[in-house]
Amino acid sequence: MTLPAEPVNALVWAGGSNFEFVALPLPLLGEGESLVRLTTSTLCGSDRHTVSGRRSQPCPSILGHEGVGIVQDTRNPDLVVGQRVTFSVIAPCLQCDRCMSGRTAKCREVLKTGHEPIHGKWPLSGTYSTHILLRKNQLVVDVPDALADAPASVSACAGATVMAVREAACTSAQTFENKRVVVMGVGMLGLIAVEAAVRDGAASVIAVDLSEERLRWARDVGATETLPPDEYATTALPESVDISLEFSGTPAGVKACLAPLDIGGTAVLAGSVADSPNTQINPEWLVRGWRTVTGVHNYEPRHLQQAVDFLASSSIPWDEVIGEPIALSDVPGAFSTPPNETMRTAIRIDS
Ligand SMILES: [Zn+2]
Ligand SMILES: [Zn+2]
Repeated sequence: MTLPAEPVNALVWAGGSNFEFVALPLPLLGEGESLVRLTTSTLCGSDRHTVSGRRSQPCPSILGHEGVGIVQDTRNPDLVVGQRVTFSVIAPCLQCDRCMSGRTAKCREVLKTGHEPIHGKWPLSGTYSTHILLRKNQLVVDVPDALADAPASVSACAGATVMAVREAACTSAQTFENKRVVVMGVGMLGLIAVEAAVRDGAASVIAVDLSEERLRWARDVGATETLPPDEYATTALPESVDISLEFSGTPAGVKACLAPLDIGGTAVLAGSVADSPNTQINPEWLVRGWRTVTGVHNYEPRHLQQAVDFLASSSIPWDEVIGEPIALSDVPGAFSTPPNETMRTAIRIDS
């Protein structure tokens, strides 16, 4: 595939495994809006669910919701042309009851990057494109020089979601300090969560995954114990964990997250983003144990800033976990090949 020479070159998803490049005019900006020329995008696993049909989404649309780029034009008084930025997945209305109560991620009128039909309110919403239009009310965060393009892009979904998970897990202290933590599923989110728990001073951090390579990366960022799911499920003792973080999205992962929770423990489920079977919870176990089971999906604006700050000093070996970037024209092929050991595919975007 070759990129046509038009102002905006967007890789449009037309359903199933069908993609095509579409040339679009540069948009006229409304008040508060910005045009960003993307330099890097990263391929989040949830887009794989969309393309494989596990998750429904309007099409044709431009997918991709992790990205970083340079402000090319702006009517947002907080931004300047030339600034290097990343941006929230969420464009909320800031007027509905959910927005007013601080739950903008679940705004009743929410629009999301990489999720909007190309013939709808927000055609240029995705990051598999040379440009993205950022909406009024959509948080845009300055990216420091210390943060390379790929991890800056990852902060927009995986990184910020982990910061929301951390907050949900630590409702009182906002920290994992001195807690016994288990992380189920060491994908991009799980790895960032392992590092967050380690850096917050957790007493122990157990990382659980099938992949020995991923467990090695978890050890690289400080996991104190790493093991495969079957072994964890059969050896974890009751009341041995204070905080369980679930990113695998598998029924076995959810179960293994709950079983070892100690009195007063908290399990945060964040991996079950596609249709999942029910899981049984014994109410007496929950009640007598003062246990909390909660869910997190997407995040609030503060979490994106936290993610950028956190990842700017991360010890994650980005060159290994992300690998060599591909071209935008290689994205359809990336969807048709199973994900390998790397945690993200980075896409280098040349205008
Ligand atoms: Zn995502
Ligand atoms: Zn709203």
